[in-house]
Amino acid sequence: MRKPLIAGNWKMNKNVEQARSLVVELLPGLQKYSGVERVLCPPFPSLMAVSAMLVGSGIGVGAQNMHWEASGAYTGEVAPMMVKELCQYVIIGHSERRTYFGETDETVRKKTLAALSVGLIPIVCVGETLNENKANRTAEVVGRQVVDGLKTIQPEVVAQIVIAYEPVWAIGTGLAATGEDAVRVVRNIIRPALAGMYGPDAAQSIRVLYGGSVTGANAGEFFGDEIDGALVGGASLKPVEFIKIVETAVR
Ligand code: PEP
Repeated sequence: MRKPLIAGNWKMNKNVEQARSLVVELLPGLQKYSGVERVLCPPFPSLMAVSAMLVGSGIGVGAQNMHWEASGAYTGEVAPMMVKELCQYVIIGHSERRTYFGETDETVRKKTLAALSVGLIPIVCVGETLNENKANRTAEVVGRQVVDGLKTIQPEVVAQIVIAYEPVWAIGTGLAATGEDAVRVVRNIIRPALAGMYGPDAAQSIRVLYGGSVTGANAGEFFGDEIDGALVGGASLKPVEFIKIVETAVR
């Protein structure tokens, strides 16, 4: 049985004081739903404050990115163990990182391996652009991202990975995929790609989320046998919306 997971990606929003206020607003509602894994992913400078506030709450903390090397001359970067000191999760290969910061399936693979090696749960993002979608290339692109992003992961640890299917055209646009389309991608592309690499049991044990303009109103379309929760951007900054999404994920 895969436990539902809802992660809020705050992106580059909220300074430390604002992050603290948002946690104060979110906590009472979020704490009611222990049947769902709930994760907040603030920007790096707020991780320490947020993780301190969440100790003992049952709510997890995630970083939005990290480097794959353990230490060294990588100015501006953050190492896996540094993230692990404050977080249980890390988002890897978000489309904004792929688009604006040159991340590739190869960097995703290195980061995923590094996350697992320090005991972080990687939330690995995959998804096609609008042009790829229009050109009927979703299967090719998403299948490749899964295979190339995860190809050297040891079978013993693969079940710890979480995949987020995030069609790029749906992120931050208010134009979510339909539940039917998202389920189709997960069922026909992502799980078969995982099964091809790790076998059918592993493919069924890995959690797959949907991300892309999820709101309190449309969340119910996505959750079910194939999709185990959501990676939420904009709506994760709105307490009522985010709590509604978590409530919808309770099975
Ligand atoms: C995201 O940032 O991963 C995301 C899905 O954003 P939004 O919910 O705003 O589309």
